[in-house]
Amino acid sequence: MNDHHKTDWQTALVNAVTEPKELFAILQLDHQYLEAANRAAQQFPLKVPHGFIARMEKNNLNDPLLRQILPLDAELEKTMGYAADPLHEAKSNPIPGLLHKYYGRVLLTFAGTCAVNCRYCFRREFPYAKNNPGSAGWHAALNYIARDNTINEVILSGGDPLVANDHHLKKFIGMLATIPHVSRLRIHSRLPIVLPERMTAELLQIFTTTRLKVILVVHCNHAQEINHDVKQAMQPFTQAGILLLNQSVLLKGINDDANTLIALSEALFAIGVQPYYLHALDKVQGTAHFDLPPQTARKLHWAMAQHLPGYLVPKLVFEQPGAPAKLPLTE
Ligand SMILES: *Cc1c(COP(=O)(O)O)cnc(C)c1O
Ligand code: SF4
Repeated sequence: MNDHHKTDWQTALVNAVTEPKELFAILQLDHQYLEAANRAAQQFPLKVPHGFIARMEKNNLNDPLLRQILPLDAELEKTMGYAADPLHEAKSNPIPGLLHKYYGRVLLTFAGTCAVNCRYCFRREFPYAKNNPGSAGWHAALNYIARDNTINEVILSGGDPLVANDHHLKKFIGMLATIPHVSRLRIHSRLPIVLPERMTAELLQIFTTTRLKVILVVHCNHAQEINHDVKQAMQPFTQAGILLLNQSVLLKGINDDANTLIALSEALFAIGVQPYYLHALDKVQGTAHFDLPPQTARKLHWAMAQHLPGYLVPKLVFEQPGAPAKLPLTE
């Protein structure tokens, strides 16, 4: 692809809002919070595409979508028990950009950036850029995968792997597909939700022409994130038989309410996406204001189970360093 001719989604990505001042102007937010936003954005920058901002309510600091991306003073508070790398990922990092924590699957940080900077992100402190293998590092990662025939699934994560262009994705997937013991390719991405323009016909073609079974795990925390554009974008993918799953993070002030979580599951199902995980927050420094006690999480999850068919109730899980899987936070 010629870099001088950006596709629509790449233009939307470049035009994402990164200045708190601009966000405040678009949403007519109270300027008394601007200074704090500027301060917090210095540690972890603001980044949000216009299409996502358009789904937020104006002049409402409590909008559940805004809360996910608005830099706040609370992020600068140091809280006991919250760390820079709570998952000790540095340890399970045999090759730059490759995490091998669980049996049978490896996770590759395929891109260094995201389309949106989520304030609660467990990787807000992770050295993405340094850990992004880029095309040169693919070789080492692919060799690692080729040498271990227990690995049958490769997960592209990030950053956000769909920030990479189709040419790169296609090339990598082509090389991966030459490893006989790999049968599944899973892609973890927030782009289908925050930048639905990314769901191009070319991308679908890449997913449907590889011999690998492709699973796309999107990341949506609130039903209001799903608008008509998102619905339209998903349709060709579900029709082509791509398995679409969703993972959410349970966030205080955003989706810590049974009706909100139930509405999210229903809205996901309506666009062909199956709820997969509801993650308890990872205790990363600067995110304590989003955290909830485990008993609250369990209560919300149980309320979901009482109102939804079992297949619309995501698994409530948390991550423990060294554990061989994500652990259930169930009753
Ligand atoms: C979450 C995660 C996975 C995927 O776990 P599943 O339970 O299969 O969804 C794989 N590798 C790493 C390093 C992870 O953090
Ligand atoms: S990795 Fe996911 S949760 Fe974290 S900032 Fe990127 S899109 Fe948001």
